[in-house]
Amino acid sequence: MRLSRSPSARIAIVYAALVTLLTGAVCFMAADAAEVTGPIGAAATATFVIGAGSIGLTLWMGRRAARTIRTVTDAARHLANGELDHRIAAPASHESRELAESFNRMADLFQDRMRDLEAEQRLLAVVMETMADGVIALDANNRVRLINRPAQRLLMTDAQATHGRPLAEVVRDFEVLEVATRSAATRQIQHAELELLHQRRFLSVIATPISADIGEGVLLTLQDVTDLRQVQTTRREFVSNVSHELRNPLASVSAMVEILESGAIDDREATLDFLGRIQNDVGRMTALVNELLELSSLESGQMPIHLAPVNLVEVVGVVVERFRLTAAVQEVEIGHCVPADAPYVMAERAKLGQILTNLIENALRFTPRGGRVTLSSSATARWVEIRVADSGVGIPREHLPHVFERFYKVDRSRSDGGTGLGLAIVKHLVQAHGGDVTAASAEGEGSVFTLTLRRAT
Ligand code: ADP
Repeated sequence: MRLSRSPSARIAIVYAALVTLLTGAVCFMAADAAEVTGPIGAAATATFVIGAGSIGLTLWMGRRAARTIRTVTDAARHLANGELDHRIAAPASHESRELAESFNRMADLFQDRMRDLEAEQRLLAVVMETMADGVIALDANNRVRLINRPAQRLLMTDAQATHGRPLAEVVRDFEVLEVATRSAATRQIQHAELELLHQRRFLSVIATPISADIGEGVLLTLQDVTDLRQVQTTRREFVSNVSHELRNPLASVSAMVEILESGAIDDREATLDFLGRIQNDVGRMTALVNELLELSSLESGQMPIHLAPVNLVEVVGVVVERFRLTAAVQEVEIGHCVPADAPYVMAERAKLGQILTNLIENALRFTPRGGRVTLSSSATARWVEIRVADSGVGIPREHLPHVFERFYKVDRSRSDGGTGLGLAIVKHLVQAHGGDVTAASAEGEGSVFTLTLRRAT
C-alpha cells in the first residue's frame, strides 16, 4: 500500500497503534477488577472512543499530507519535463494552499526566466544570421561550438556537418586553423588575410580568445574582402593604364620638340610634319582625358539621364549620315534597315546618338575595305533591340567577355588611337538608360553589338 510507505502515514499508524494498545490495557485492567460498568467503564468507553477518533483523524491527516506531497512531486516532474505552464490547483487546507502557492510562484519565476533566456537566444540567433561576417565559436579543443550562416557559406559547409567537429575537419585552408591555434596559444587577437582557392575569394580572419564560465575558446570572425581587393586592384590597374596611355604620346611630343629645338625648326616641311604629329598626339591625350572624365562622372552618377520617347529611325538616320563620308573613304558600305514605323524608345536623344557613334566608330575601325556596317532593330512589347553589325575582323572568343572593361584592347600592339574606354562608356550609358548591351562575334566574320532599351508607351 502506497500510504504505508509515506513518513506521515507511518507516524499515523504508530500513533494509532499506541492509542489502541493504551485503550486495550485500560479495558483489561477494568475487566480484571470486574468493574466494566460504572465510572471506570465509562472512562474505558470514552478512552476507546477517543482512541478510535484519534486513529481516524491521524489517518485522515496522514492521507492528506501524502496527497499534498504527491501533488507537489507531480507538479515538479511536469516542470522538469518542460511543461512550464503547469501549476498546482489551490487545495482547501491552509498549509497545503500555502505550499501550492509558493510552488506556483516559483514556477512563475522559473517560466519568466526561461522566457527571457529564450528571447535572448532568439535575438542572438537573429544577430548571428543577419550579420554579413562569418562567425565561428571554438571550444578549448578547437571544436566548433557555434557557426553562423555566412561562415558556412564562405567555408562551403553546413551547421549540421560542422557542429562539434574539429575545425581542422571543417576548414580546408590551413591558415584559418593556424590563426585560431595561435590565438588559443597566445591568448591574444590574431589576424590573417588569405585566399580561398576553391572559391577564388579573399578572406580576412580575426581570431579573438574568449574565456567564459562555459570554458575557454576562440571566436573567429571571417570577412569577405574580395570586393575591397578588387577595388584596390582596379585602382592600381587604372593608374598603370592611364600612365601607360599618356606615356607614349607625351614621350613622342617631347622628342619632336627636342628635334625642332635642335635645328629642325628651320626646315619648314619637317616643322609642319612634326607639328601635325604633335597635334595628333595632343588630340589622343585630350580624347583620353575627356573619356576618363566622362566615365568618372558616369560612374559617380553625376550625369543624370533624362529619359523621353525618342524617334529611333530618325536618330539612327542622322548618325549613319554623319559617317557616310568616312565609310566611303574607307571603302566600307554603311546603311541601316530600321523601319520607318519602328517604335520610339525611352532614351536621352544625345546620349543615344553618342552610344551609336561609339559603336559605329569601332565597327568602321575594325572592318577592312569592301566590308559592310549595318544598323537594324526589332521590338517586343516592352523592349527595343538595336543592332550594330559589321563584317570586320571579329573578336576572338576569349576576349569577348572583357571588351566592355575599362582600357581593354584585344590587340594592345595596334596603334589605332583607341583608348580602350569606348565600350566601357557605352555600357555605362546604356545601363544608365535602364537597358543593356551585349556583344557577339566570330573571328574573321564580324561582330554584332546589341543594345536593348525600353520601348516608349
Ligand atoms: P577602343 O577605344 O580601343 O576601341 P573600345 O572599348 O571601344 O576601345 O573597344 C575595346 C576593344 O574591343 C577594342 O580595342 C577592340 O579590340 C575590340 N572591339 C570593339 N569593337 C569591335 C568591333 N566592332 N570589331 C572588332 N573588335 C572590336
